[in-house]
Amino acid sequence: MPVPQRQVNRCFTLIWNAVFSHVVDTIVFRDTGEDIGVRILINGRELIDLVRDVELPFATREGHPKIAGAYSYFGPSFTFLPSRHFLGQPVHSWTDGEGRCYVLSCHCGIPPCWPLSTRIEVRQQEIIWSDFRQVHRGPQSAAGEWRYDGMGPFVFNRESYERALAGNAVPRVRKTARICTHAQRGRRGIVQGFSVVRQTPNLPV
Ligand SMILES: [Zn+2]
Repeated sequence: MPVPQRQVNRCFTLIWNAVFSHVVDTIVFRDTGEDIGVRILINGRELIDLVRDVELPFATREGHPKIAGAYSYFGPSFTFLPSRHFLGQPVHSWTDGEGRCYVLSCHCGIPPCWPLSTRIEVRQQEIIWSDFRQVHRGPQSAAGEWRYDGMGPFVFNRESYERALAGNAVPRVRKTARICTHAQRGRRGIVQGFSVVRQTPNLPV
């Protein structure tokens, strides 16, 4: 007799909880008014640093170690509530189209230029980040796929996560030009509340 789907789902949930109930990761969204955006710390470490560690062997193999971790964070209006970007409802088109949201932007401030994406799953008690991808280094990339098997999944307590998203923006007093190493020279855009200049096309996208 076939097992009802509901029973299968229930079984999966019990196993999932048993595996992850003792593995609760912490996340902090911290705005300090800097141009890098709202910092994200996972288990006390900057997300950009965690990602750089994973990306460095791939970037080094390509001969461009500096593109490892070449990200910035999103600005406060896209990070904090009422934005639901970090609750898996991407603003603008900041998703890879396969259910993953961008959680890091290109360091020039234009997210699609060089984004890191992840699946954000909102459960009753937890919010889970899994399946990280650099969209320009996927399975079809001529430069070869960058894999993030060692990163996550991160399991956050939902209540703490949502409380962290209720933070406040620190007013910016100035806008600073940033140089992008991925994109084309001379294009200008304003994203995340930063004024950015795209220059120096010396690295591949
Ligand atoms: Zn860029």
